[in-house]
Amino acid sequence: MGKQMGKAVKEWMARHFFSLLMAAAGVAALIAAGTNSWIAVAVMTLAVLPSLAARAPVVAPPPAVETLIDTDPLREVKAAFAGFDSPVYVLDLKANVLYQNPSARHIFGPIDQGQHISVKVRMPVVADMIRDALASGRNGQVEFAGTVPSESVYLVRMVRAEATDGAGAFYVLIFRDISEARRIDRMRSDFVANASHELRTPLASLRGFIETLLGPARNDAKAQERFLNIMLEQVTRMSRLVDDLMSLSRLELKARLAPGDEVDLVPLLGSVTDALSPLAGDLGVDIRLKLPEEPVLVMGDRDELTQVFENLIENACKYGQEGKVVDVTLEPPAKGQAVQVSVVDYGPGIAEEHVPRLTERFYRANVESSRSKKGTGLGLAIVKHILTRHRARLVIKSELGKGSTFTVRF
Ligand code: ADP
Repeated sequence: MGKQMGKAVKEWMARHFFSLLMAAAGVAALIAAGTNSWIAVAVMTLAVLPSLAARAPVVAPPPAVETLIDTDPLREVKAAFAGFDSPVYVLDLKANVLYQNPSARHIFGPIDQGQHISVKVRMPVVADMIRDALASGRNGQVEFAGTVPSESVYLVRMVRAEATDGAGAFYVLIFRDISEARRIDRMRSDFVANASHELRTPLASLRGFIETLLGPARNDAKAQERFLNIMLEQVTRMSRLVDDLMSLSRLELKARLAPGDEVDLVPLLGSVTDALSPLAGDLGVDIRLKLPEEPVLVMGDRDELTQVFENLIENACKYGQEGKVVDVTLEPPAKGQAVQVSVVDYGPGIAEEHVPRLTERFYRANVESSRSKKGTGLGLAIVKHILTRHRARLVIKSELGKGSTFTVRF
């Protein structure tokens, strides 16, 4: 003890050598100038003050316990998981909770340290996995779909780890929300199933006709001509479908890239309407185009915007045929309002329940009518993709028996 004190005094003296020197000078000055000298008192005060200040922590109350004694072997583990945005629990070998990160507290609610994990995690598949992992001493993993607090699919992993200072083993239970990944998987497999189904139908019919041409109709010139025309129609349908699929996949590739050209919608709508006038004529529909005098410029990709209005006007002519008229109106931006183009038909309209789903791939309000009108079920999905890339919106309003309005807002 005495030795230690001696060492501490030596260290202190070394640290405050300058102050001590000044103090000594003060004492010397005091002795030389007599006891009333204020210069000597000032020199001594200046010398001693910093030393007192430097000594202050030693005489101050002892610091908080955790800074003196850092005995928590999981301190770093906890610090690492605190910033995780997935729920994480650190458990002891009996599955009692040693730590719960903020995300776990937020999603599953608070749990006291030392309580068993089953207080919070009651899903049977997860409870079984935890029990097996504890019994075997190995890691575990399970997927479960929960509805509380919201509908989510979680991948739950239980990983065994050792504390670095030999304090023993513990487990980390991590919940990873994979709902989005599962949703995309489901969409992808639905899409592949739908695309295959769409291609399988014309392929099956082609096969049937080829077999007939090779067999019973081998020598029937009239039947051959009729069948070959139907086959041409089916092949055209397949290539339309493949073209639409290619368009969608190209659009997906550049979904985040905003188009950078300035496009005048006035001549663009004029040429789309001209291109569709033969089809409108065949269907007995009159397209009435209302355009402003002045140019209406938007940032866009000319070909893609052409495709948008071709799809909308063609749909209006095909599905609204019985209304006989399709109105296409371009409204220039008025006082901070958006540029908008509306395509209005006066046909049978669309039932309310279909409206929100029309832009889904392969969704049709009426499958038979779409097929008979050479539809692929992809037109509005393409429109939506293009408009998203253009930071524009498609608003659909329809009333049964009165017709439909498709509005594009830039
Ligand atoms: P399709 O290739 O079948 O035309 P779209 O994606 O262009 O596919 O349209 C999806 C469905 O929306 C169509 O099958 C049709 O049922 C419905 N639809 C689209 N436009 C109209 C409209 N103007 N009037 C009534 N129904 C429409």
